[in-house]
Amino acid sequence: MTAPLRVIVWNEHRHEKINPLVASIYPGGIHETIAGALREADFQVGTATLDEPEHGLSQEVLSSTAVLIWWGHMAHHEVSDEVVERVYRRVLDGMGLIVLHSAHFSKIFRRLMGTSCDLKWREAGEKERLWVVEPGHPIAAGLGEYIELQGEEMYGERFDIPTPDTLVFLSWFPGGEVFRSGCCYQRGRGKVFYFRPGHETYPTYHQLQIRQVLVNAVRWAAPVDGPSPVFGNTQPLEPL
Ligand code: ZN
Repeated sequence: MTAPLRVIVWNEHRHEKINPLVASIYPGGIHETIAGALREADFQVGTATLDEPEHGLSQEVLSSTAVLIWWGHMAHHEVSDEVVERVYRRVLDGMGLIVLHSAHFSKIFRRLMGTSCDLKWREAGEKERLWVVEPGHPIAAGLGEYIELQGEEMYGERFDIPTPDTLVFLSWFPGGEVFRSGCCYQRGRGKVFYFRPGHETYPTYHQLQIRQVLVNAVRWAAPVDGPSPVFGNTQPLEPL
């Protein structure tokens, strides 16, 4: 039997402290609700938040983390560049990264994408229908043809990201917009998955299909025990 995957759920954990509605939906913080979904799947799950020393992401913690999940919104600028650099290097070295909802504007996601990651948005409690557009992908395992959320914030195209390696979900909103809401990337040896739903005033991370996506995404993003890359000046393997 192999050791369980070590996952860290990172959350800036600010809305929960200042908005009673958010606190009532996520009493232990968004990170605890997500961690609960992952613990049910037998991962070894820890959490980390912005206000901890080094945001809870010391080199030691990151070195032993297989997959990092990131939720942030109002305090992206408070995340230290040193920690961002540390996470970036771990992703290039093979750690999986799952970026949720408003973390499209996080320093780490913009660094990995190299674009503005800007988008359209509207807060009107709209229904969201996420179509599974790549049904054979591991992140779609166990899902139906689509997922419906009865109330969510709208995100609309253009979403200023590089074209995903694989697009797993495409969202539709009643106002007419669409959005690439499940985007897979490879960066170095690491895998990155952006997943759109999860505005803090809706119970999105309590919904079963959303929890299934997060579990699937952790499995997909887990590091692979492949060869370490070799760079620089090199001797020929055959006589020249
Ligand atoms: Zn939001």
